Order: sequence, then C-alpha cells, then structure tokens
Amino acid sequence: MQEKGTISIHTENIFPIIKKFLYSDNEIFLRELVSNAVDATQKIKRLAALGEYKGELGDLTIDVSFDKEKKTITVSDKGIGMTAEEIKKYINQIAFSGASEFVEKFKDAKDANEIIGKFGLGFYSAFMVADTVEIHSLSREEGAEPAKWVCDGSTEFEISPGDKTERGTDVILHINSESEEFLDKWKLQEILDKYAKFLPVPIRFETKTESVEDGVDDKGEKKWKSVEVDNIVNTTDPIWTQAPSELKDEDYLKFYKELYPMSEDPLFWIHLNVDYPFNLTGVLYFPKVKKDFELQRNKIKLFSRQVFITDEVKDIVPEFLMLLHGVIDSPDIPLNVSRSFLQADSNVKKINNYITKKVADKLGELFKKDRKVYESKWGDIGLFVKYGMISEDKFYEKGKDFALFTNTKGEYYTLEEYKEKVKPFQTGKDDKLVYLYATDPDKQDSFIQSANKKDYDVLLMDSPIDSHFIQHLEGKLENASLKRVDADVVDKLIEKEGGYENLLTEEQSNKVKEIFEKAIDNKTYSVEVQGSSPEELPVTVTMDEFMRRMKDMAQNGGMGFYGAMPDNYKVGVNGNHPVVDRILKSEDAAEQERLAKQAFDLALLSQGLLKGKELTAFVKRSVELI
Ligand code: ADP
Repeated sequence: MQEKGTISIHTENIFPIIKKFLYSDNEIFLRELVSNAVDATQKIKRLAALGEYKGELGDLTIDVSFDKEKKTITVSDKGIGMTAEEIKKYINQIAFSGASEFVEKFKDAKDANEIIGKFGLGFYSAFMVADTVEIHSLSREEGAEPAKWVCDGSTEFEISPGDKTERGTDVILHINSESEEFLDKWKLQEILDKYAKFLPVPIRFETKTESVEDGVDDKGEKKWKSVEVDNIVNTTDPIWTQAPSELKDEDYLKFYKELYPMSEDPLFWIHLNVDYPFNLTGVLYFPKVKKDFELQRNKIKLFSRQVFITDEVKDIVPEFLMLLHGVIDSPDIPLNVSRSFLQADSNVKKINNYITKKVADKLGELFKKDRKVYESKWGDIGLFVKYGMISEDKFYEKGKDFALFTNTKGEYYTLEEYKEKVKPFQTGKDDKLVYLYATDPDKQDSFIQSANKKDYDVLLMDSPIDSHFIQHLEGKLENASLKRVDADVVDKLIEKEGGYENLLTEEQSNKVKEIFEKAIDNKTYSVEVQGSSPEELPVTVTMDEFMRRMKDMAQNGGMGFYGAMPDNYKVGVNGNHPVVDRILKSEDAAEQERLAKQAFDLALLSQGLLKGKELTAFVKRSVELI
C-alpha cells in the first residue's frame, strides 16, 4: 500500500531556507548521515547486549559509496533499522514546535551547525546537496516489513513497502547539480578523513591497494603482489578512548604522528579522563615550540563521541594552552550553539578549569619526578608556564612551584630557591631585594661582569614573553623588584650602605659634565657625574629601566606615545676613575675632549652601540692614543 502525507512543519518553504543558510558548510551532510548510521549500529549492539535483540548481529561495517553515473551517494548501515511507523515518527516530524520559532531563531544563526543542532535537523542536511533522498530500511523487529521513503525536498513525502532484505538502513542521496563535486572519490575520502576518522564503528569506503606476500621466487626470495582490499576509513578505538594504564609511550607517539604527520615528536602528553561533573576524555600534547606561534594554534581537535566537530577550541581550552596539540572529546560541550553561549556555559568553564588544573598537575609531577629532564625541556615548556602564570591566577599559584629561573651561567632555580640564593647579596639598603636580569648577554656582557664581580647573579630573560613575565612577577613578589643589568651602574642598581661617593667637588663635577657634553654633542644623552668604584669603567651608558620597559611594551603593540619617543640614554661618568682625574688635570681643551670622547665611545662599544663612522673614528683615535 502506498501512502502519501505531509511532513509536519508549519512552513512550506523550509528546505529552501535550510539550503540557503547551510550552504557554506554543506559537506557536513556526510558527517550527519554517518553519525546516524553509527548511532543506529550502536543501538543494535546495546539491544543485543541487553538480550533484547536475539538475532545475529553479523558484520556491522557501515558502507559509504557513490555512483557517478547515477549521481548518488549512499550510506548503508546494519543498525536497528526503522519500520514505516518509525520513519514517520522520527524523520517526518521535525523537532521544532513551529515555523515562527524556526524563523525567529535561524536569523541569528551563524553556521549550519547551529541550526542543525538546535532543531535536530541532522538528517535533513542531506537536502543541502540532494534533490531527492530515499530511505530504505528494515527494522530489527521480528517479521518487520521493509519500508521505503522518498522525498524530493518539498514538504511532500512518499512512503511505501520497500525491498530491503537485510536489517538496517540505506540512505540514498540523488545529488543536485550544484553539488556534483561530492561525486568524487577524493572529495568523499577527504570529508570522511576529517569527520569520521575515529568513529567507533568501522566505515568502509571504496578499496585500496595493498602489497601481500606471494610465495617465493626461484632464488628463495619473497614475492609480493598487489591486492585490492576494503578501505576502512577509521580507527574505531583511538587512544583517548583507551585506559592510560594499557598504553605505552609508543602508542601516544604513534597517534601524534597520525594526527600531525609533519610535526616533530612532542615533549610529553597528558591523558585526560573525567566522568564527573562532566564527561571528557582526550590526550593533550606539548609540542616543541616554534617561532611561528600562529601556525601552531588551532591544532587541538574537538570531538563529540568520536565525531569530529571542529579545531576551533577557543573558550574550551584556556588561551595559554592554545599552543597544545591533541584531541578533546566531550559529549557535554554544547557544540551546536553560538560562541557567546559557549562562553556563558558553565560546563565549558568547568572544563576550562579542569584542563588548567590537569596541565599544572602534570608539570608539577614531571618537575618532581626528574628535575634534570624537566630542566632540559624548560626551553619549550617555559613559554606555556610563563604565559599561564601571567594569564591565570590559579595557574600562577601552582606554577610558582615549578617555574624555573635561568641565569646567565645556565643554572636553573625555582623562584623560592633563587630568592634564597640572592637574598644575602642583592638586598639594598632599603631592605628591598633586587633581581638583576639580562635580555641579551652578549651586548650586556660588561654589565654582567660588573655584577658578577660583586657576587650578584644575573637572570637570563631573553624570550619574547619575558618582558611581560617580569612585570607580572613584580606585582607578585613581595618587597622585590627586577632591574635590567644595564639599567644603571651596578652600585646604583642595588644601593648599599657606605657605597662609593663621588669624591669630586661640585665645581669639578660641573666641569667634567661640561667637557663630556661638548665631546658627545648629542642631546639624547644626558650626562651625570656620580661616584663608583675606581675599578669600574670610567663611563657607562644606560637606559632607565622604566623608560626602556615602556618602549619595549610600545614595540609589542599599544602605547604608541612611548614608542615614538627617541631613545634617551644616561651617561654615567665615574668621578672616581683615574681617567676623569687625567681629564681634569689636562690643561689642553682639545686633549680633554678627546679623552672624554674616547671614554664615552668605549662605553658604547661595550654595549654594541658603536657603529659606522663613529666606530671608524674611534679606531683611528685609539691608534693615535697608543
Ligand atoms: P538526530 O540524529 O539529531 O536525532 P536526525 O534528523 O539526524 O536527528 O535523525 C532523526 C532520527 O531519525 C534519529 O534520532 C533516529 O531515531 C532516526 N534515524 C536517522 N537515521 C537513522 C538510521 N540510519 N537508522 C536508524 N534510525 C535513524
């Protein structure tokens, strides 16, 4: 008996709307149909396990096929199947209460996922690429009649007895003329690779060629022949679904290579596994950090019950962990809703916190277990840890126990260890602890040497994140500050009781200042005569810590005002140095200026600031002086 009916929705033109709005994402039709096939297959397995289905399960492989001539794509499963009644119930009554609701909601929808998820339109996404869709199904129920459903994309459908003899469902799409690109082996393979690679039921698509042994030849050597075998597109039990205790390092590394064939081996990984208060599994890998951060982002793949959803995991993974690689699988993440909803969703927040905590715990554990190994990886891990400590307070609290300082001698200290190490030497007369750091040890070498001579230690802060990390640390460390080692002469960086005084009279100091200003003849250098040890350099050129930081920040974006200011250097003349004494004693103004210029150039030279003509003139003058 043939029956005609109308799909019960309250708007006549629903399909044109779906097509129009979903067009950009139309490849997901295959994801939806294959997911339905997987669901139907898992349901029959469950029924069998519960003893509610007594028949043979048989081979449950799902088949995806296409016919270029007939312009069809077919998805076949051996799942629970549907009776005619079930088709009417599940397929014909689209799950929304009325046209007005749909029209109201879809106008804000940004992509197909959103509409499909909200309205349970998975099956109907087939109409994005097909003019006509057929369902042939045989229910699991004993004595069930096969059913056939045909719909041409209008609201009219036709249901009649079918001829399917095997349990399960075939969905046949008659591809429309705009979507013929999908009638292609590579295109379909690509979509299956993207969405179906880790689905829990085997999915067969076409065949592939494999070499198999074929006896031995006359010389006793193995012979090989090519055979066509089924091409199973997926791995049904990817490692994140397995128990960590069952897995070896090789398994994790192999999976990593499968996901990112072009990447170097990761540093380490974390297996995520929670079932309360939300459901989440996954494996996150710490990659070797490359210079080009942007290319490394968006590498985490998000799945829902092994169906690939997206690699835009923003909001679910904390910002500072966006450089991680791997997979997250959670049926609890509302995948089909808009971004703003995602941000407000409490599950998403919990997941975010959970991941942060797990990563912190793992790092803490690695640090405790084998500090040497941890130190050797710090170059890569450091970026995550510092970024995390800056951006999330909760992470700072944990991170301060396993974050490492490196000094210019290549030694590693925890924050606490370092404080204990430098406290006896680097506490100033105001009782404040001063941490010294270098950003470019080659350029700042003379300053590092001066600091080391005084038993001061110098930290190495040479990565792009360090200027932010320094600022953040200063906010956190009590009664301590950080100063770049070339921000001033060493005696000024850390001022101690009974430091050197300038032994020149005021008149002498003014005279020296005048000579130097004339010799330098450049307004961006401001000369100051001060007291340091006679052992120190006669002249040092420094940039004020505050000013320099402002300029650094301006360079990293924002604060244009400081960026536009010219570099302003302070020239510190050591009033106690013998050269200054010589300058004062000289009667010859030209000689005075020459010596002053030479001492100044030496200071510039020690910082790599002397270049071009100035450098040539310096060399010439040096020869004359010899
Ligand atoms: P959803 O999968 O979100 O429920 P769909 O529109 O994709 O929405 O499917 C509607 C319903 O139709 C499913 O819930 C299921 O009951 C039924 N269905 C769809 N495809 C199949 C299939 N291949 N085998 C059995 N039942 C199916």
